[in-house]
Amino acid sequence: MPINLETPKKFNQLISQAHQVAAEILRPNSRKYDTLEHEYPKELDMLAAAIDGLNEGGGLSGAGAGAVGTNGSSASVKKKADDGSNRNGSNMASLVGLIEMCWGDVGLLLAMPRQGLGQAAIAAVANDEQLERFGGKWAAMAITEPEAGSDSAAIRTTAVLDEATGEYVLNGEKIFVTSGDRAELIVVWATLDRKQGRAAIKSFVVERDNPGLKLDRLEHKLGIRASDTANFVLQDCRVPKGNLLGSPEIAPKGGFSGVMQTFDNTRPLVAGMAVGVARASLEDTRDHLESAGVEIDYNLPLHLQSAAAAEFISMEADWEAARLLTLQAAWMADNKKPNSLQASMAKAKAGRMGTDIALRCVALCGATGFGEGELMEKWARDAKILDLFEGTQQIQLLIIARQLLGKTSAELK
Ligand SMILES: Cc1cc2nc3c(=O)[nH]c(=O)nc-3n(C[C@H](O)[C@H](O)[C@H](O)COP(=O)(O)OP(=O)(O)OC[C@H]3O[C@@H](n4cnc5c(N)ncnc54)[C@H](O)[C@@H]3O)c2cc1C
Repeated sequence: MPINLETPKKFNQLISQAHQVAAEILRPNSRKYDTLEHEYPKELDMLAAAIDGLNEGGGLSGAGAGAVGTNGSSASVKKKADDGSNRNGSNMASLVGLIEMCWGDVGLLLAMPRQGLGQAAIAAVANDEQLERFGGKWAAMAITEPEAGSDSAAIRTTAVLDEATGEYVLNGEKIFVTSGDRAELIVVWATLDRKQGRAAIKSFVVERDNPGLKLDRLEHKLGIRASDTANFVLQDCRVPKGNLLGSPEIAPKGGFSGVMQTFDNTRPLVAGMAVGVARASLEDTRDHLESAGVEIDYNLPLHLQSAAAAEFISMEADWEAARLLTLQAAWMADNKKPNSLQASMAKAKAGRMGTDIALRCVALCGATGFGEGELMEKWARDAKILDLFEGTQQIQLLIIARQLLGKTSAELK
């Protein structure tokens, strides 16, 4: 089954709607919420409601969520029958929508109500009753702890079953939770038994207003300042037994890798965010170069052009390479092909490309690029996170090396 790299026609409307939202709502509010860090971007409420309405009416055929985030990216793929035909489904819809939205503003995209990584985890493993209770809610994801970042299997937050009340009691600390303050639910990773290692790690849905979940502080950040990043302490935080996602059994094999597979759907989306923000930087840089009289000629070899034009063309090539890897990873997810390797390749390439291009564009545009009169300096700050969360650059390279060399995580650390 060959991959067709043209944008599927059925997504043209979604792309143009997402672009319009990015241009008319996100861009005009970009600087405002970068400056007013931690202030809630109320303009997004209306937008989120409109997107919900469009989804309910089938107007965007599930891609309205895709236009703004990771909501349910794996769920709708699971539902379709595998008839062997080439499919561009919800992963691709999410991706092409996200690219446009992040051309508008990455921080505001991440702050969009009812989007977020927690919902991807719920969609992947929740049972019907849990889907009924939690589906469609704004859910954040809390994996990272002070002593466990890249090595998520090292988490220390514990979950102990209280047989008398039928509740799990969670204790621990969670840091860097995107949308943690504003979301309705937090999906918390905790261990049922630290001695049993990664097999004992489970995820629990915690209501944001649970009295045992205490907000410690909100982070001040280099970029994506419109998105809140929360740190929590869980202190005898009680959740009903039925809030454990997936099986409560500690299975020696498969359980943890099942949880990790959520990343195969979400990493291409983070890569897409980098593709979007880098395109914004490239487009503005082209305008600046052209108005400064720099000619960019695709018919001339690079050594016969000005240094600025040659650098611009090589940046575009790098951008295109990242974009194609990202499309491939999402396409494989839609077509049920194992894509861990390609998802990490896309994330590694696009994460590095986004940071690199955004900074080189700042340099090429000189004082204009660095000044707050334009958004280029902000894009350079925003791009950095895309090479960090959902697994850093180094962790993606490690995963790629393991896959190519056929090594386990114990063999190659
Ligand atoms: C703004 C923001 C939002 C976030 N949102 C969320 C969220 O919603 N939910 C959540 O759970 N987490 C979130 N995170 C956490 C993020 O996923 C982690 O910061 C990231 O995984 C890295 O972990 P760490 O910061 O502990 O760094 P560490 O793991 O301590 O890594 C430090 C450095 O060492 C490198 N390194 C680590 N291990 C290896 C290795 N084996 N080989 C080579 N190099 C290695 C890393 O690449 C990195 O450069 C967020 C972080 C930020 C900054």
